[in-house]
Amino acid sequence: MISAIKKFVDLGTDASLSDDLNRRIRVVNMFSAVGMTVTFLLGFRALFAQETFLTCVLFSATILFAISHKLQAMIGAKRGSFISATVLIACLMSLMLILVVTGGSENTGPLWIFTVPSVTMFFTGFRRGLMALTGFAAVIIVIFFTPDNALLATEYSFEFKTRIVYTFITVSFLSAVYEYSRQRSYNTAVYLSEQFERQARYDPLTTILNRRGGQQQLEQELSRMQRNKKPFSIALADIDRFKSINDTFGHDAGDEVLKKVASVFSSRLRAQDGLSRWGGEEFLFIFPETNEQDARMVTEQIRENLSANAIPVDNKSHRVTSSFGVCEITPSMTLTTALNLADQALYQAKNDGRNKVCTATEHKRKSSR
Ligand code: GH3
Ligand code: MG
Ligand code: MG
Repeated sequence: MISAIKKFVDLGTDASLSDDLNRRIRVVNMFSAVGMTVTFLLGFRALFAQETFLTCVLFSATILFAISHKLQAMIGAKRGSFISATVLIACLMSLMLILVVTGGSENTGPLWIFTVPSVTMFFTGFRRGLMALTGFAAVIIVIFFTPDNALLATEYSFEFKTRIVYTFITVSFLSAVYEYSRQRSYNTAVYLSEQFERQARYDPLTTILNRRGGQQQLEQELSRMQRNKKPFSIALADIDRFKSINDTFGHDAGDEVLKKVASVFSSRLRAQDGLSRWGGEEFLFIFPETNEQDARMVTEQIRENLSANAIPVDNKSHRVTSSFGVCEITPSMTLTTALNLADQALYQAKNDGRNKVCTATEHKRKSSR
């Protein structure tokens, strides 16, 4: 029983949709269920009271509520939820207009119109909700105040009609204010969570991706390779003798150098390549769909560019160099293995005198000698 209710309420929701949309879909589903039940029960009451017209209206509404529930699943969540919400509101408003015109049971029909503002606002959002409610209120006013009650099948006192209109406008206004602030808080929450997400992936000093961001990029590249079977390469870079820059010129100057090195590295990248700050003065390059030989060539250009241009910090220029370890990643390799191989190649480059590029293959050849 509970799982059947859950299935009914969850129909059309999907993990790939935003939380807000999924919540709207659930509420539309719940509303369909409530609408179906209420109109069905009231329809039965009207049937026994031999109110034929009301019976037909209520049972038709039951069917429309049932259809709107199925629409989401039939059309696809995004457009479907919009259409089924529109059907629900059109259905609800028509039902209310009929109740207002006929008076429903003992002239209590107009009382039901107070369900309209909150439901409309919630289903359609602030802007469209406001337009729909203004239209609905205008139609109610026309029905109530057309001379000689020409549009009414029943009679209400003037005081009753004016109070219904005043209270309806008040409730609509409050629902609109509530929906507006709800939307604003939701947008703020989404904005903040995007900011936090960004902060968690980027390095504040160099503004490039941090290790976490680099790791995510690596995993994306790995799954792309598993799909298209085209190997890719990585390069680990470690600035040479960086400690001596800190020791001689101070930590702040060291930070400036790091920032500028990151920007020199970024400026040499091709559009498809990735760069992240892997550790203190270590950087990770990702070269998609690039074999070891080509990655070596690109890395060599980056190395040359860094060593050929002195980096100015506080009116002093620093000659900064870096060593690089390159490794090609094939479908049979794990990321840990690849990173280890790149690291070993990097230390080979350091051992070979620094300001060098060494590939995993070259390192293997050298170490097996
Ligand atoms: P090698 O050529 O062998 O790599 O020598 P190195 O001096 O670069 O290597 P080592 O690992 O001994 O020193 C790295 C230094 O980088 C030590 C650490 O204080 C410095 N460092 C790491 N992160 C930062 C940072 O964010 N800012 C600054 N200014 N220095 C940092
Ligand atoms: Mg280091
Ligand atoms: Mg270093």
